[in-house]
Amino acid sequence: MTKRVAVLGFMLESNNFSPVTTEADYRKRCYLQGAEITDELAKAAPKLPAEIVGFNAEMNRLGQDWELVPVVAADAEPGGSIDQDFFMATLKLMEGYLRAAGDLDGVYVVSHGAMRATGEFDPDARVYEMVRDVVGRDVPLIATLDLHANVSEPMATETDVLVAYLTNPHVDQRERAAEAARIMVEMWNGMTPHQYFIKVPIAAPTVTLLTAEGPYADLINYGQSKLSDDILNVSVTAGFIYSDSPKCGMSVIVTSRNDPKPARKLAEDIATRAWADRERFKKALTPLSMATDRAAALGRDPSLPACIMADVADNPGGGGSGNTTFVTKAFTEAGVDGAFIGLMIDPAVAAEAHDAGEGAHLTVTFNAEPRTEFDEALSLDVTVEKLTEGSFVGRRGLLKGRAIELGPCALLKCGGVLIGVASNRKQCADPMMIEQFGLNIADLRTVVVKSRGHFRAGFDEFFPPEYVYEIDCPGLTSPVLGNFNWRDLVRPVYPLDEEATWTCPG
Ligand SMILES: [Zn+2]
Repeated sequence: MTKRVAVLGFMLESNNFSPVTTEADYRKRCYLQGAEITDELAKAAPKLPAEIVGFNAEMNRLGQDWELVPVVAADAEPGGSIDQDFFMATLKLMEGYLRAAGDLDGVYVVSHGAMRATGEFDPDARVYEMVRDVVGRDVPLIATLDLHANVSEPMATETDVLVAYLTNPHVDQRERAAEAARIMVEMWNGMTPHQYFIKVPIAAPTVTLLTAEGPYADLINYGQSKLSDDILNVSVTAGFIYSDSPKCGMSVIVTSRNDPKPARKLAEDIATRAWADRERFKKALTPLSMATDRAAALGRDPSLPACIMADVADNPGGGGSGNTTFVTKAFTEAGVDGAFIGLMIDPAVAAEAHDAGEGAHLTVTFNAEPRTEFDEALSLDVTVEKLTEGSFVGRRGLLKGRAIELGPCALLKCGGVLIGVASNRKQCADPMMIEQFGLNIADLRTVVVKSRGHFRAGFDEFFPPEYVYEIDCPGLTSPVLGNFNWRDLVRPVYPLDEEATWTCPG
């Protein structure tokens, strides 16, 4: 019998300090339904979440007699909480497709897991509840999550298995989706999963959550070392504190096969380890003045190794606007040479540059119309070096193989500083975002990216980890957690509240 699997995706990482995420934000990136999804899947570089591509490929690779029943695939750049009416409309659209689908043998949901809506804290759980309502408890419901998911108890109880990314920068979306496919097949063959969930009150700044090394890497590696015939999956999600939601914080989710006991035992073990290691989740950044001095020195002395600096507080990949001017102001005032800064998201400046044409000299003003308290205006005399339409395929890291649409882009030059400007908000995580301007990254002395951590997987061929700096500037995604006015975060939480105490419930 052909197995029929409904596939849906509803993704958003909500930074509650950012402007509300609307239908337009989804339409810009991915909002497809029904046959549009299968049509998109057939393309060489689909704009679909990579998980849908990975799930589909694995089911086919397994030789499974199956049918993908497309529902809705909705994905937006990380941003503010989702508009409640749009959330409800999308939920209803999904429900309509599911009810019309007839008998189903499984449902695969692609979630980010840190969605917040303007009217509710836990829309991810609401999606799973809706699915259960339609298909009942006997049909496998498996969801994949971003490593920054804020997991809640209802999210764990409504699903059979939650499978979270293991990598940060995230490069294993397809692999985790493939794992979800294999788990679904195992369930069809009679395996019963038992999921155990523990919340740990650690809400670490994202810069301490890399998986190459550090406290979080140790936790992930420990969990993976425990996979066995009993233990089906270990997911440790770090959470996304900027959602400012009661469900923020680290989550340990362990799933065992057939017997619930091993899951519980291992989840308690991992949660206890995480808490014992909590002091390592603190991190010092490089002050802007030091970063500027370093960039100036690199411009003067070609014998010094080039470096990459991340403006981590203004990361569009975490809901940042990608338009703050602190670094650009400091570098241009200091007369830094050989630096590239980008991408500055400012469609008005990009349009002005396109009107003026390549080679033109003009004065541009970034953030002429500020939207957040961090959008300080900055006027600069620049030369238009290069204009593009910002349309290409990512070549390395997170965005490899994905179609990227930045809208009209411009490379501006102010003294010795090159500024890459784009129209659509996107973090600078792929070398193509700089190379599209005809630049050779190896020729640059300092590259400043508006990205928190995903740039590492895109630019590692130019900059080894020891030449990475994280700059301390104001912004919507600042790792300096004391900078924010938290409202809905459950306190105390570490490291924001140093005195926080916790013992594992057991
Ligand atoms: Zn993430």
